[in-house]
Amino acid sequence: MFDPTYTAAQQRLAAFVPHAGRDYASARNFDSTAHVSTLSPYIRHRIITEKDVLRAVLARHSPQAAEKFIQEIFWRTYWKGWLERHPAVWTAYKTDLHAALHRVQSESGMRRQWDAACHGQTGIDGFDHWAQELVKTGYLHNHARMWFASIWIFTLRLPWTLGADFFLRHLHDGDAASNTLSWRWVGGLHTVGKTYLARPDTIARYTQGRFHPTGLATQAHPLDQTAPPPPPGPVPRSDQIDPSLRTGLLLTPEDLSPGWLLDPISPAATATLHTPDARRVTTFAHAAMADCTARYGHRLGPVTPLSSAQISQWARDNNLGQIVTSYPPTGPTADTLASQDIARIIRPYDRAAWPHATHGFFRFKGLCCTNRLMAEVPLSLDRLIPRSL
Ligand SMILES: Cc1cc2nc3c(=O)[nH]c(=O)nc-3n(C[C@H](O)[C@H](O)[C@H](O)COP(=O)(O)OP(=O)(O)OC[C@H]3O[C@@H](n4cnc5c(N)ncnc54)[C@H](O)[C@@H]3O)c2cc1C
Repeated sequence: MFDPTYTAAQQRLAAFVPHAGRDYASARNFDSTAHVSTLSPYIRHRIITEKDVLRAVLARHSPQAAEKFIQEIFWRTYWKGWLERHPAVWTAYKTDLHAALHRVQSESGMRRQWDAACHGQTGIDGFDHWAQELVKTGYLHNHARMWFASIWIFTLRLPWTLGADFFLRHLHDGDAASNTLSWRWVGGLHTVGKTYLARPDTIARYTQGRFHPTGLATQAHPLDQTAPPPPPGPVPRSDQIDPSLRTGLLLTPEDLSPGWLLDPISPAATATLHTPDARRVTTFAHAAMADCTARYGHRLGPVTPLSSAQISQWARDNNLGQIVTSYPPTGPTADTLASQDIARIIRPYDRAAWPHATHGFFRFKGLCCTNRLMAEVPLSLDRLIPRSL
């Protein structure tokens, strides 16, 4: 379903753009890939960027007509910015997941329930289909992700971290910020007191009668949280590039459009970061990195695939004075690179948006882009996507 190449991303974008206006606004909630872009694996790895997508859509539609679609793109930006300001939430997720996996090993009842959920054998109409669809295709529609997470948490009463982990293992677009924070939002941990309850009638309506589950939880009380997230921390700072030094570029799954970095650095050598885990998102990213280095080949110098443990030796072998990478946002890649001496450069788009991701999404959206409809849109979009970039 997803060819991990820039060409495939461009083709998908071109095919979707005509539908990004009123078609998307009216039909996007139906559980079908016919009404949405299915661009997420490409945007997640920045094979094409948020800016590329916004520009293509705004070249064809007015901001008013494309408002819903623009808003969805900004959800990704908001979640990323929010997690940057609250990295402890990612750390807590990993700790809680570890504890939940331990419970799965030691509590046979939970293991059976978890196993049935992951294999789509719970007997719950719709839910079982989505579990199998995810494993088969690596993709679920947004509404299906919401229903699935809600049923996982409130009907099956499984720990939300196990569900988030199930998604991260199988999604092509598996993303620390969008995934962790969406699961937390469904469970009532993100917006205090607000949960998402999957309702049979909604499912029947937006699956056009394919599914009408019975026995779903009728109430969704917010999950307990040990401690509320701390107030937002500082916006991360971009490191400086020293143009006088011999430079190596490190490409990671977080940003596979390195053109913006190549002008200031002209790398003497490039490394692509490979991690050994078997998650689908990693396999997709490895293939996409090969496509990326082929595309930019003439500007990258010799290209070497590396694990994080091999980076220092690679720098010595190539006599590098500095290693530069596009800032890896909070998540597995940032964890892998945590101890490395690398200049992490934040994209201008993220630098402009992240400072506003402090409170709720709608305030973010109002500050950054669309919704002081519509007079401010061009101005505000320019602020987020300056013409000079
Ligand atoms: C429980 C749960 C887990 C999720 N996990 C992930 C994840 O791991 N990775 C991921 O990329 N998205 C995740 N999402 C968000 C969203 O479901 C997907 O981005 C979207 O379904 C991708 O399909 P699309 O490209 O066809 O979206 P479209 O509807 O075509 O939207 C266009 C783009 O906007 C962005 N977008 C749309 N909806 C959202 C959203 N709710 N949050 C953030 N960005 C959005 C994506 O970049 C998407 O490609 C999750 C949502 C939920 C409810």
